[in-house]
Amino acid sequence: MSALLAAERLELAYGQVPACREITLHVDEGEIVTLIGANGAGKSTTLRAIAGALFPRAGAIRFAGRDITRLPSHERSKLGIALVPEGRHVFPFLTVRENLELGGFKFRKNAAKIRSLIDRMFGMFPRLKARASQNAGTLSGGEQQMLVLGRAMMSEPRLLCLDEPSLGLAPLVVQDIFRTIRSINEGGTSVLLVEQNARYALETASRGYVLQTGSIIVSGACSMLKQDERVQQAYLGRSAAVAAQ
Ligand code: ATP
Repeated sequence: MSALLAAERLELAYGQVPACREITLHVDEGEIVTLIGANGAGKSTTLRAIAGALFPRAGAIRFAGRDITRLPSHERSKLGIALVPEGRHVFPFLTVRENLELGGFKFRKNAAKIRSLIDRMFGMFPRLKARASQNAGTLSGGEQQMLVLGRAMMSEPRLLCLDEPSLGLAPLVVQDIFRTIRSINEGGTSVLLVEQNARYALETASRGYVLQTGSIIVSGACSMLKQDERVQQAYLGRSAAVAAQ
């Protein structure tokens, strides 16, 4: 089976400053794949390159059998790649419904389609339905994260790229967000998940890549990564001695 997304030997830089090298990864149709690593490891940079916000200096990216290495982000979005960047960027002075409508931009000529997508999002996120006419800026952090997820899903993506969806949220809210990500995936959307919260990421994804200072140092099934000593020491807060018991 060919991968939905395949990145091969990406070299990524900001101007002259290198950020990531030799990034090779793939996401198969229907998978949740995670990128974990410490601050500054290059997770967001990799995600930006996949969504088209940063062009690689070298390497190639293929999506659904097509070379998208030089395709701008809006063209990638039309093909089915949606990016939810870090930081829950809602339009604060637009209502929840208006924020969702903007996510359905590619269906703007089809009002019935947008209505049915919004109904679907309200089914998936009942709290957003209750706040449909409220300005997005008045929502809690967790609700804003739900809104940016819903807004991205309004484009019916085949691949949802999520950057740190749990950042700054309370543990119960984080659980809710990860439950939602799993249910989005069960609905048929593949997910590439960048997370610093390795514990949740490894519970949610089937495979993962661990980045350190711009390179992938280990990759594989999450069940295997959870047993990896480097992952345990650096990200799961467990010492090798305890893990060995
Ligand atoms: P974090 O969780 O802190 O966002 P990360 O793993 O996502 O970390 P990146 O944000 O991808 O890491 O950063 C990778 C490297 O690229 C770091 O050295 C960082 O300083 C650098 N970098 C990130 N964004 C920029 C930018 N806009 N301009 C210049 N350098 C950048």
